[in-house]
Amino acid sequence: MYCRVLFDVGTLNFERDAPVHALNPKEVFAPMSTIEPFHTDSPEYPPKHREVYHDKNTCPDGKKIKDEHRKIGTGNKKHCLECGKVS
Ligand SMILES: [Zn+2]
Repeated sequence: MYCRVLFDVGTLNFERDAPVHALNPKEVFAPMSTIEPFHTDSPEYPPKHREVYHDKNTCPDGKKIKDEHRKIGTGNKKHCLECGKVS
């Protein structure tokens, strides 16, 4: 008897008509150029590129760093000047 009572109140269909206008399409589809900071310590790159970190995926210098050479975080380095110029 106990089980049957719990089953009867357990149907969740009453949530089907909840309003779904919370999402703002403009925000969802806006290009996100700011990314998690990354840097590189790889000797493949000139010192100028090794002493800064990037946080934009549109940065021309950051794009030169291959995925396998990217390290997550700022590495206690300076912020890349090019990242400051691009949006
Ligand atoms: Zn950069």
